[in-house]
Amino acid sequence: MVILGSHCSMKAPDYLAGSVKEALSYGANALMIYTGPPQNTLRKPVNALKIEEAKRLLHEHQIPVEHMIVHAPYIINLGNIVRKETYELAVEFLRKEIDRVEAIGAKYLILHPGSYTTSTLEEGMRQIVMGLNEVLTQEDQVIVCLETMAGKGSEIGFEFEQINELIHQCTYSDKLGVCLDTCHIHDAGYDVSDFDHILNEFDRIIGLERLKVIHINDSKNIKGARKDRHANLGEGHIGFESLAKVVHHPKLSHVIKILETPWIGNHAPYQIEIQMLRNNNYDPHALDVLKDEKTNS
Ligand code: FE
Ligand code: FE
Ligand code: ZN
Repeated sequence: MVILGSHCSMKAPDYLAGSVKEALSYGANALMIYTGPPQNTLRKPVNALKIEEAKRLLHEHQIPVEHMIVHAPYIINLGNIVRKETYELAVEFLRKEIDRVEAIGAKYLILHPGSYTTSTLEEGMRQIVMGLNEVLTQEDQVIVCLETMAGKGSEIGFEFEQINELIHQCTYSDKLGVCLDTCHIHDAGYDVSDFDHILNEFDRIIGLERLKVIHINDSKNIKGARKDRHANLGEGHIGFESLAKVVHHPKLSHVIKILETPWIGNHAPYQIEIQMLRNNNYDPHALDVLKDEKTNS
């Protein structure tokens, strides 16, 4: 079965156990969480997160714990060489985050490489490598997956070559993997409708064995727009067919696929989108029921 899930919330009172329940309610066999608000660094102690209950639920449903992945907060910026505090905060937080991920029992931590702000791409890249070298140790079990970015503003990691360089400049490159985001690569200029070509490029430049997670998102913008605005499946410039091909690609059956498509009003689209992807059958009106509720409420 395709390994497919979505972003799930993690909040009081059930924390991680609640996240797993949410994933199960979508018919998912994978999930992605933030260990706290993505926009700040305030975190609950791990022993409050109901980890054992979450693991028991996963086990009951024959879902390996590796299918539960964590996304680092997007305020972490290892690439900032202008503001020393930002960089130091990022290093300190990332170290603690890796320990949290390890305590949770998860294996993959998704990280946006960083932005170079007012310096240069090369300087930003060097700073990210320095940061990763400060953070990673030989003993770490967690794999930090660098996410391919849209190239919005001064984001680093919008070309496979950049991701590859970051990985290979790091001392512990064996602790690094990649998360490919379909919206981001499309916005960065890659043609997702020719996904076999993208995979060949990925394999040639980075190596397919590094690919651990794929974020499945449609895009509100045209190819190469460098914007990063996610759309619901079939409602963007990538289209359902191309995204379903990614999800069902025979070379990627072991890779975890996670939806980060936008909510519709107060409703998560994930149960419907996961079902459409699993059946490989697009219904352009399937999400209308959520949209109607949105306008009625
Ligand atoms: Fe991300
Ligand atoms: Fe993403
Ligand atoms: Zn994005």
